[in-house]
Formats: sequence, C-alpha cells, structure tokens
Amino acid sequence: MKLDALAGNAALKEQLSAQEKGRGLSHAYLISGPAGSGKRTLARLLAAAMVCTGGGEKPCGSCNACKKVLGGIHPDVIQVGADGKDISVGQAREARADAYIRPNEGERKVYIFHNAQDMTVAAQNALLKLLEEGPAYAAFLLLADNPGSVLTTIRSRCEGAALTPVTAAEAEYELARRFPQTSREERHAAARRCGGLLGQAVAELEGREAGDQLSAACARFLELLAGRDELEFAAWCVELEKWDREALVSLLERSQALLRDALALGRGAPALTAAPGELPALRKAAELEPQRLLQTAELLDKLRKDAAFNVNAGQLCGALAAGVNGGQL
Ligand SMILES: [Zn+2]
Repeated sequence: MKLDALAGNAALKEQLSAQEKGRGLSHAYLISGPAGSGKRTLARLLAAAMVCTGGGEKPCGSCNACKKVLGGIHPDVIQVGADGKDISVGQAREARADAYIRPNEGERKVYIFHNAQDMTVAAQNALLKLLEEGPAYAAFLLLADNPGSVLTTIRSRCEGAALTPVTAAEAEYELARRFPQTSREERHAAARRCGGLLGQAVAELEGREAGDQLSAACARFLELLAGRDELEFAAWCVELEKWDREALVSLLERSQALLRDALALGRGAPALTAAPGELPALRKAAELEPQRLLQTAELLDKLRKDAAFNVNAGQLCGALAAGVNGGQL
C-alpha cells in the first residue's frame, strides 16, 4: 500500500500492506492512538484505498476516487461525528439505514466514526448491529483516542490499527514537507515540543501561519487607512469577503487594538500590542487625526458586535468599506 502520507508507524504500514496484498483489507478497523497521532490521516488513506479505481499500489492518489476522498468530498466515504460532538444513537441508526443504500459511485461505501470512545453504550450497540449485519460493500473505520473505552463486542469485530508516536526526526521530515516556508529552527522546535504527536506540531505551525496572515492583513488595513485611497480600500474589502466570519472577527479585534496603539504612538506613548512586522504601518497610521482613529475603532467595534448576529462576510466587508470610506468624506 502507499501510505507515505502517514508519518512514522513503519510496522503498522507493513502490516496493512501485507494484509492488503494477502487476503485484502478488513471491512472494519479500530484505529487508535492519542490526539495528533495520525488517526484521521490513516482513515483517509484506508478509505481511499478501498474506493481507489487506479491501477498499481493503493491508494494511487491520482484517480478521481482518490482525489475526492483526499479532498473530503467522496459521496461514498461518510464521516460520522467529524464535528467533534459525541455520536448519538440516532446518528448510528441513520448510518445503519444509509448503509443499505448502494454506493453512489464505486463498489464500496466507507463509514468513518470519529471519537468512538465517547459514544454512549446505546450508540455503540447500534453501531455493533451495523458491524454485524451491514452489507458486504460497507466498510467501517472507527477512530478512538482510547480503545479501552470501546465495547469489547465492537473491538472483537474490528481489526486493530494502533498508531504510535513518531520520532523527532520523522516529525521534522514531515514538517519540512508540509511547511517548506518555515525556518528549520521553527520546525525543529515544533517537532520536539509535540512529543511524537505530529498533529500537534502541524496545528502549531498552521496556527502560526494563520497568525502571520492575520498580522499582515491588519498592517495592510492600517496602511490603507493612512493612505486614504477609497478605491484601493474598497478593493481590499472585496478581497476580504473570501475570509470566513471567524477570521474576519479576529481581524476586526486585532485592528481595533492596533488603532489604540496608533493613538498612543501619536501621543508619544509606546505601542503595547503591535508585533514588529506591524510597526511600519502603525507609524503611518499614528499620523492620522486622533478623531479619525477613534471613529474607525468605534466602527470596528460595532462590526465585531454585528458579526455575532447572522451577518455574513460579504455584509461585514461591505459595511467596513462604506464605514471607513464614508467617514473620510
Ligand atoms: Zn486511486
């Protein structure tokens, strides 16, 4: 099997490959390991292997079916409880009813049950029935941080796939592949901190990337505000519409703090929250009239509150453009 996307875990990969070559993959796996150990990655690879239509080693990664699974949009790969909420009896029963509807595209249907250890006994029993009586084309991947909390009756019907922490070198290698733009020191430190749970290091670097993007956007906001070019500002607001609401709220909050910094800087006081990368833009903004900075901060505050109600990204960005540009007239 082609399981390179899963870091480390050489023994498990060998075991799965041998199984696939021999009697074929099992119809049910209990994939276990602590948070960040690669359960979702392995589930995705196994699901892709099961529906892959390409030749050679599976999952080929390039056929239509593989691409859909890896992109999370294959209609025959069904995620249950991926939102992190506990899977209810109702959801387990729904999956059972759904399993009897033949696959949409291929030969198989794959159900991925997240956080199986948190399912109530009633929900687990409904899942057990599905494992026992489900149609032959259905396969089940149960993910659990702690497999000991899964009913023995369920465990006995699943093949175990226990993930183990990766070495610091393996983590670093994987981080270099996924975050080539970060520095070696940064990756080295993240790899050491994660204690072999690569997912944690990935989350840390992704979080930092998001933080950098946010910081750059806030600096751009200050620059545009200081530049007083209405058209350019409106165009930037249109770009912002692609952001999701949560990210926009972070942008409004952070920019509001920077406007307070700009006010302080204008009075000769130190800027308290600005990151070094934001300072050049902040100095430009500090030259604006205090009244304008205050009004803009008030506008951002209002928009941030509006965002708590069902205001979408387009409306927020439209109001930002109108508010800032309108205030300038
Ligand atoms: Zn494929």
